[in-house]
Amino acid sequence: MPAVRALDDDVWLREGGMLMVSAAPGQDAAIEHAVAAAAAAGVPEQALPLDADAVAQRVRSPVFRRGVFFPDGATVQPARLVRALRRRAIAAGVELYERSPATRFADGEVSTARGRVGAPEIVVAINAAATGWRPVARHVTNFGSYVVLTEPVPELLDEIGWTGGEAIVDARMFLHYFRTTNDGRVLMGSGSGPIGYRGTLDERFTRDRATAARAEHGLRRLLPGLAAARVERAWGGPIDVSADHLPFFKTVPGKGRVHYGVGYSGHGVGPSWLGGQILASLALGRDDEWTSLPLATRRLSSLPPEPLKRLGGGLVRSAIMACEQAEEDGRRAPFAARLGAALPRLFRMEIGTR
Ligand SMILES: Cc1cc2nc3c(=O)[nH]c(=O)nc-3n(C[C@H](O)[C@H](O)[C@H](O)COP(=O)(O)OP(=O)(O)OC[C@H]3O[C@@H](n4cnc5c(N)ncnc54)[C@H](O)[C@@H]3O)c2cc1C
Repeated sequence: MPAVRALDDDVWLREGGMLMVSAAPGQDAAIEHAVAAAAAAGVPEQALPLDADAVAQRVRSPVFRRGVFFPDGATVQPARLVRALRRRAIAAGVELYERSPATRFADGEVSTARGRVGAPEIVVAINAAATGWRPVARHVTNFGSYVVLTEPVPELLDEIGWTGGEAIVDARMFLHYFRTTNDGRVLMGSGSGPIGYRGTLDERFTRDRATAARAEHGLRRLLPGLAAARVERAWGGPIDVSADHLPFFKTVPGKGRVHYGVGYSGHGVGPSWLGGQILASLALGRDDEWTSLPLATRRLSSLPPEPLKRLGGGLVRSAIMACEQAEEDGRRAPFAARLGAALPRLFRMEIGTR
């Protein structure tokens, strides 16, 4: 956040903390887990448990059962942040080449359709577009994420008491993530989009009506006080989900100096600052506090090869979504869904576990 504050531009930084809420009995355990994890790490003040009344003091919803508040959370308007960083980079003398996708990075050279650039140190930071790239393909896959944005409704936000700028997530595996904007709108996202195949990025991620509908359904269920708020926009894209839901940063062995960071798993806006520090140190050949972080040193879990990755991931996704829907509807999920949802744990994989 200090780095964001240092920018001259107004990127709509709101230091309102982050709230995770349970919106169904099956989500309560995730709240308890978050509180216990912070206590075990010796930072209980970073994850404050809230009962239903304390949640209601921040935002009123009939389906919020309890929550955990992370006081250090903040939000920005990411497009404003990108433009601010772009201006800063240019002012610092960086040459930017846009609309020229790299087709190969190796042996001290970056190739594009129309030319090549010599680069003794190459940093590949292309997010979900890296998923089909051989050095990372076994460790990351793509999921779709989609958001809807309401018209400005500041008076409705006043009525439900959501005026503190908190970012909110529910405790589903295929979560809803939501926040208010500086102009009084609500952005509601659903991380329940389709799973990719071999890293192909196509319209399934960017024209995904089903996930947009789930995001709007989430808006209506989680915040019924905003029933009158019209949805004005919807958009989405792929996210790069790693096997343990954490990003990783490495140098490709034996390929010249190619460094990469990927696997933010849909949570990269803040952590990509940290990723930038790690990548800078890797490119400079430093052995320091950044490159010694587990994000850069841990042994990576692998995902199954294609087509198993796509087929298995699709099966588990459908099963978990059926379980989460059943929990919200107050019924028991069918046996097949419960079995499918348990598969990752049986295979000791963290992806898709709840
Ligand atoms: C709908 C949606 C909602 C999201 N909501 C949140 C949220 O609430 N909070 C959060 O933290 N994160 C969120 N994310 C995820 C977040 O956007 C990413 O984690 C974050 O942007 C990752 O930063 P990055 O720098 O790695 O990649 P990006 O910001 O995606 O930048 C990668 C860049 O690489 C470029 N590129 C791709 N391929 C090539 C190529 N071959 N050659 C050259 N350039 C290339 C791209 O054009 C892009 O400009 C959301 C994502 C989506 C899709």
